Parts: sequence; C-alpha cells; structure tokens
Amino acid sequence: MDNTTIVAISSALGEAGIGVIRLSGPDSLAIAKKLTAKSDFKDRYMHYCKIEDIDEALVCYMKAPHTYTGEDVVEIQCHGSSASLKNILTRCLELGASMAEPGEFTKRAFLNGRLDLSQAEAVIDLIKAKTEKSLASANTQLAGSLGNKIKEIRNDLKELLINLTVNMDYPDEDIEEITYKNIEENLLNVKTRLEILLNQSNEGRVLREGLGVAIIGKPNVGKSSLMNIFMGEERSIVTSVAGTTRDTIEETAQIRGIPVRITDTAGIHESDDVVEKIGIEKSRDAFNKADLVLLVLDGSKEFSLEDKELLDASVNTDTIVLVNKSDLDKKINFETNLKTIYTSFKNGLGVEELKDAIEEFVTKGSAERRETPALSNIRHIDLVKKALAEIGEALNMTLAKEAMDFIEINVNAAFMYLGEITGDTASGEVIDAIFSRFCLGK
Ligand code: GDP
Repeated sequence: MDNTTIVAISSALGEAGIGVIRLSGPDSLAIAKKLTAKSDFKDRYMHYCKIEDIDEALVCYMKAPHTYTGEDVVEIQCHGSSASLKNILTRCLELGASMAEPGEFTKRAFLNGRLDLSQAEAVIDLIKAKTEKSLASANTQLAGSLGNKIKEIRNDLKELLINLTVNMDYPDEDIEEITYKNIEENLLNVKTRLEILLNQSNEGRVLREGLGVAIIGKPNVGKSSLMNIFMGEERSIVTSVAGTTRDTIEETAQIRGIPVRITDTAGIHESDDVVEKIGIEKSRDAFNKADLVLLVLDGSKEFSLEDKELLDASVNTDTIVLVNKSDLDKKINFETNLKTIYTSFKNGLGVEELKDAIEEFVTKGSAERRETPALSNIRHIDLVKKALAEIGEALNMTLAKEAMDFIEINVNAAFMYLGEITGDTASGEVIDAIFSRFCLGK
C-alpha cells in the first residue's frame, strides 16, 4: 500500500454551490485535524468546521478499509468558488499531502483490491457517459458483472491447467487421468462463453463511442435536411443548388438514447470540381468507415445512373435506403433487397420509422444480451479475441491428440490474456495507461 497521502479537487472547477476536496492516505485525518483545529472526528459523520480563515465546510472522515480507495479518506465540502477550493488545496499540500495524479484515487482502489481493472475502467466510462444508455452500460460493468464473468471463465481454465499439469508431471501417480475428450469439452465450453461475450461487444462499443452513421446520396436529395433533423437545429447549410454541402461534417446526436456520430457527405458522384472532389473522397471514406450507411434518394426524380452506382456499392453493407421527398409526386422506380423507408424531411414522414430502424440495428437480437454484460471496451474486446485464438489453437491440438505440454501453453496464454481484463495479470505499464485517462480528483 502506498504510504503517501494524496489530495485533489474532486469537483469541477467553475462557479458552483459547493466544491469537494478529497484526501486519501494515512495522514488524511491528521491533515483534516490541523486544517480545522478540531480533534474529534467521528467515522462517517459530517462535521461542520471552520477551515482556518479560508472558508466554512462540512468535513467527513471515512476510516479505512471500507472506503472508495481502501485507505483513510477525508472529504471536505466547501463553497464552490475556485478561490476557496484552491486555497484549501494549497493548505493540504503545505500540511504534507501530495497532489494526486489523474485517476490516482481509483488506481489506489484497484491496487487495494476494492475494484478489479474492468470496474475501474467502468468508472471512467461513468464519468464520460453522454447518454442514459451509456450510463446504464457503465453501471453494469461497475457492478462487476464483466469482471465476474471473466473470473468464472478463468477459474474453469485454471482447473483445466491444474489437471493438465498433474497429468504431465505425475503420469505414474494413481490420479484420475484427464482424457482428450475431457479437454475438448472444457475448451469448447470456454470457447462458447467467450464467443457470447464477443458477440455482445458491438452494442457495448456503440454505447461508448457512438454509432458511426454516414449519410450519402447525390446532391440535393435532402442529406443536410436529414442531418438537421437529427441535430435538432440548423447545422449544415440547406440550399436548393446541387452540390452545396462541399465537405463532410461530423456531428454527434442522440437517437433513442444511442449516441450517434453522423457524417454528412458531399455526395458520391463524378465531378470535375476540385473542391467538390475532396468532399467526394471523404464520402467514400465515410462510407467505408461507417457502422451504418443511410443512402438518400430523391423520390420525386427518375432513378439515375448515380443512384444506381450508390445502390450497387451498398449491397452487402449495412445500409438503409431512404426514398426522400415522398411529399412530392413519385417518379423513382428501382428494386433493392436493402431495407427501404419512404421519407419526407420536409414534413417529417418516415423519420420515426428511421429512428426505430437505427435503434433496432444497434440492439438487434438483444433480448438475451441484457442479461450479460456488454463488452464495450476496445482493450477488453482485443483481449477476449486473443484468448479465443489461443483456445482455438488448443482445441486443434486436442483434436490432433498432440502432447499435453503443448496444449497447456495455449491454455495458459488464454488464462493470462483474460487476467489482463480484470487486472490480475496486467502489467504496470498497462495499468498506468488506463488510469492516465481519468480526470483529476477521481
Ligand atoms: P443535400 O444536398 O442532399 O444536402 O440536400 P438538402 O438537404 O440541402 O436539400 C436540398 C433541397 O431539397 C432543399 O431545398 C430542401 O429544402 C429540399 N428538401 C429536402 N427534403 C425534402 C423533402 O422531403 N421534400 C421536399 N419537397 N423537399 C425537400
């Protein structure tokens, strides 16, 4: 355990009714006593105190180990002015505390076994959550459900590792022999559970990072109008001259609680105009990178060659076709297997149906997912993939009846990768990198 005492302003700076300064470490109580000239702090009680001639405050002392960090913690609630907060902070430093690094409180919580690494990462997500759904997802992870799932799988792998080792090291002993059939069953079981976790990863990632949506279509079909509907205000310039949206614009909106990053493009079409070409390149780029493409067509015009090219390019991608301007007489005529919605961005027709479709795209088949935690963090997804690859390799060798020593190597590697999720086997470097993403005071 670290024997320094750290301090930080834990509330956001700016004008506010109250502000919070937090101390953690063995000298927290001693520093609080000196600051307040008060000697009797009852554990977990709010005490009204004068903080020298700086401010008046409510001070709460929380005795280790059942605190956020697992250490002695003192929280000082003073007036929320930055002058008051900074002065108290300075006094704490003068009295022997050191300035906390970003995320150091949570890092201490992890090092003291109060949280596993996946839970600590959920704290970051919780602080940064932008929508209700992202918040709920971070809360599930903070409750430890992902860590627990991984721990269960690791326990089974450990059991298997023990059996493999015993069989290898003491082949002559009279112990129950592990058969290739046993190993295969165990590995298949682990493989299935990891695959389920991974399948849920898309929804989780979307909730954290937002769904990447690209709006494509030739000029003047209504792309900017759609963008404005999503944004709820006039963001991109809407004009009736073809080709006005020259560049791509990325904005973040919320659709049914899902964070959505929308790229409005200049329209993919052939052009000699240099400025416009840049926009078109970016459109292609956005098209390739997006999770979901919205292809807008003008229903009041004939189906053109450009429309056909866009539609052909969309086959086998996650694309929703929007036949816009359906408030006007229909001229368009085309066929597609892609999901198609008739819209009018002028009078709002089809917009709710579009939102339904986007929501369904993110949560599709999600009934059983609600029960299990979504893997939402790229680091976790990557580690589960690596573990799965090792299990796959171990399975191949089991089926080929290779020596158990070899199988053991892959099973052990999978065991180690999964341990990096919970922090049981994560290196100091990884841990430092994770906590550096925190804000100060958490
Ligand atoms: P973009 O070039 O694809 O971004 O298209 P805009 O959003 O700039 O729209 C081009 C023109 O079509 C504007 O004058 C819009 O007001 C008009 N427009 C957009 N959607 C509709 C619609 O559903 N019905 C009608 N009648 N006009 C629309």
